[in-house]
Amino acid sequence: MLEGLSENLTNTMKKLSGMSIIDKKTLKEITKEIQKALIQSDVNVKVVLNLTKEIQRRALDEELPKGLSPKEHVMRIVYEELVYLIGEKPEPLDINKKPYKIMMLGLQGSGKTTTTAKLAKNLKKRGLTTAIVCTDTWRPAAYEQLKQLSEPLDVPVYGDPKNSDAVDLAQKGLEHFGSKYDVIIVDTAGRHKEEADLLDEMKQLSTVVNPDEVILVIDGTIGQQARNQAKAFKQTTTIGSIIVSKLDGSAKGGGALSAVAEINAPIKFIGTGERVDDFEAFDPERFISRLLGMGDIETLIERATEVTADKTDKEMVESIVSGKFTLKDMENQLNMMQKMGPLQQVMKLIPGVGNQLPKSATKETEEKLDKYKILMKSMTNYELENPDVIKKSRVNRISRGAGLTNEDVKDLLKYYNLTKKALKGGMGKRNMSGPMGKLLR
Ligand code: GDP
Repeated sequence: MLEGLSENLTNTMKKLSGMSIIDKKTLKEITKEIQKALIQSDVNVKVVLNLTKEIQRRALDEELPKGLSPKEHVMRIVYEELVYLIGEKPEPLDINKKPYKIMMLGLQGSGKTTTTAKLAKNLKKRGLTTAIVCTDTWRPAAYEQLKQLSEPLDVPVYGDPKNSDAVDLAQKGLEHFGSKYDVIIVDTAGRHKEEADLLDEMKQLSTVVNPDEVILVIDGTIGQQARNQAKAFKQTTTIGSIIVSKLDGSAKGGGALSAVAEINAPIKFIGTGERVDDFEAFDPERFISRLLGMGDIETLIERATEVTADKTDKEMVESIVSGKFTLKDMENQLNMMQKMGPLQQVMKLIPGVGNQLPKSATKETEEKLDKYKILMKSMTNYELENPDVIKKSRVNRISRGAGLTNEDVKDLLKYYNLTKKALKGGMGKRNMSGPMGKLLR
């Protein structure tokens, strides 16, 4: 997520942690790099200048807190100011009545339809029942798209492609579902002949639906323009919260997040990919920790728990986190990670690991996963628990049993050793008493 920005900021933090002294000159060097990284991510220049000025001021003026070295102090300030830039505290979606009516706004192409399904799935995971009303009369395919996305989730969709009256559709949809569901999401159109017509329709819909929360979906790839877009929608109705979509790989994501933070409506979720599962609750502190290369163990464990409530999986994640790691763990880990999402994204959550693995490495790994799994099936439990015993004759037996080559077995062992080393290194850093460790406590 936000690859360029994350890489630049992580490098800056590394540079900072390697500095022997912190003075005006080194501070300037660091803030210059932060400026460059943020401006490249389309954060507004004025906002960037204010932010770095504040970092410098605090670093020079504030008394050094007990137990922190000067550079740890600066790291903490950078971290805090970046968190502040995108919103401070997480604001969860609070479903406090039944049915809780949510109205979704957003321009066509912003990812609104996909996000509606993602939200329904998220609510389902929380044990809430959800129904969707489609009022998009401008894009007949929207109803079909919603139905397709929602069917596997067991979420009913109300719509009628023949009806061209959005307000009527909303009314009928709400009546249809009554108070049977915990949440009703009303999806709206994102396009009209004239922008004014679209905004007018949103106004009318908002009167009829009387939503408990209006959520605006903003495309993260548009950068700081997000601010004007949000402002335009804000003229029609009170925006309760925002979801920023497409933050995966968006070069301008930083700009979108910081621009939206100025709107005075919290970002509650972010979209991180095209799949219905690529969606997470937004927590500025965790987000910045990850962006600065400090990892995000909480999200990792949460995701593992979401994938299955099975305790063994959670224990497995904890075993990875603690650094104890056998081939058996790796087999479980590979199975679980495939369930959790693309490897590249999952690895990113692990402190000290994600940003060190080149993209090609994780892609290649994904392609090899199936091969590895076949090989591990050909191993005994003893071998899985004690990979060090796998020498020549065992290699021959395993490769024959799997119908693969000795090279494949060696390749698997090499991958295992690399992963083990990377995980140990990463976790070691997390537990260290060094700067990043302290920041996270
Ligand atoms: P709508 O017109 O606003 O309803 O947008 P759609 O939901 O149809 O999405 C437009 C395109 O954006 C589709 O190709 C989606 O797959 C894609 N999309 C939506 N959310 C995300 C996201 O978080 N990441 C990525 N990479 N693509 C997304």
